[in-house]
Amino acid sequence: MTDAIDGLKMRERNGAGDAAARPSAYAPQSAQPPQQPELHPSLEQPDALRALFPVLAQTINGAPLAYLDNAATTQVPLPVLDAIRAFEEHDRANIHRGVHTLSQRATDIFEAARSALKRFIHAGAQHELVFTSGTTESLNLVAHGLSDSADAPALLRPGDEIVVSIFEHHANLVPWQQAARRSGARLRLLLPDAQGRLRPNDLAGLLTPRTRVFALTACANATGYRPPYEALLSMAADAGALTVLDAAQTVAHGGFDLSALPCDFVAFSGHKMYGPMGIGVLAGRRDALQRLAPLRFGGDMVQWVTADTAVFAELPARLEGGTPNVGGAVGMAAAARFIEALGRDRLEAHEAGLRTRAVEGLSRIAGVRVIAADSAPTAIASFTVDGVHPHDLGTLLDEQGIAVRTGHHCAQPLLDHLGCGPTTRASFAMYNTADEVDRLLAGVARAVKILR
Ligand SMILES: *Cc1c(COP(=O)(O)O)cnc(C)c1O
Repeated sequence: MTDAIDGLKMRERNGAGDAAARPSAYAPQSAQPPQQPELHPSLEQPDALRALFPVLAQTINGAPLAYLDNAATTQVPLPVLDAIRAFEEHDRANIHRGVHTLSQRATDIFEAARSALKRFIHAGAQHELVFTSGTTESLNLVAHGLSDSADAPALLRPGDEIVVSIFEHHANLVPWQQAARRSGARLRLLLPDAQGRLRPNDLAGLLTPRTRVFALTACANATGYRPPYEALLSMAADAGALTVLDAAQTVAHGGFDLSALPCDFVAFSGHKMYGPMGIGVLAGRRDALQRLAPLRFGGDMVQWVTADTAVFAELPARLEGGTPNVGGAVGMAAAARFIEALGRDRLEAHEAGLRTRAVEGLSRIAGVRVIAADSAPTAIASFTVDGVHPHDLGTLLDEQGIAVRTGHHCAQPLLDHLGCGPTTRASFAMYNTADEVDRLLAGVARAVKILR
């Protein structure tokens, strides 16, 4: 190899090759986070903020869209779409395997997205972050990984116990049912008191020396109830259990500090925090993640392979078999920066204000019962109307351009326990306004007159 060729390679590695001459949203070939134009989205300028979400500027059945289904999925702002597009246009390549420039650049960008999301949740030196397809895959990875054996025996054994709360989304319940079946462990349910609250004392009554896992949501998606998860996780951790937090309804609505929580695993989705669908995160303590048997075996998650055996790679690659959703990771990291630019405390206050307005207004409509009405702070208002089926109500609201979710919200055991059946759920995000809440209230009042 000549000096000239060596010199050229060095130049390209250092970012002095032709990529530097092309405009790009990124600092090419660097592990720095992608550079984005200065962003000043603000809750004080709702029209300018809403203009960053093209999907909101449409009419539905002749009325302006009031999108109040944010607990199911949030909309995506232009800076997130721009970041994804910049990656796909300039930097797309498969990661980790290539010596060529694009592959190295894509690898750097993917790892920069990982770092940005670690900062977003305040992961510490003892934490690692794994990309998944979403909260559901993250929670399956934990439940399966603790009940299956790969390069070490399964952690869960016959006679062990798993405790989950009844407030869980099916994604944090059904995987544990399966883990219990697979391992012979017993699944125990933490139930609320008569006021609908989870109590540390009730958890204390369930914890035993055989409790290996405690899984809990940081906010119930069906009702908006926010359990005292810090105290509950602490108690379970003190009892020696691994702790799992479902943060799908939390990370986009206020601050979140993993380093201050006694939490071994935390799961969340890109599409509920203004990012793309099909990307999510499982983060947590490195030594806890290390105990998980991988869910997906194949390329990228191995160190070396012979015809009949394999040694798995170190974390996080160990749990990221196959080609990851690199564009999704880029978008999710851009979404995290967007939320941070807005101010997470202010965002939480904005949404809690909308929720309070909705709860107060709904409570004044005869026959309406708001579930978990006094829960705060939260961005979800879930309610029933005497004599009116939620699907009929949802259909009438849609005729006025108002999008809400109706049904069991993937939390059937909870709604059965509360004895309220399916509900109507309005859920708020950064771009929602008091005017939209008032339209919801007028729409519900009108629908009640028509349907009863
Ligand atoms: C939406 C949701 C899930 C599932 O998330 P996916 O993105 O569909 O995988 C799990 N838990 C809670 C609390 C949720 O709101």
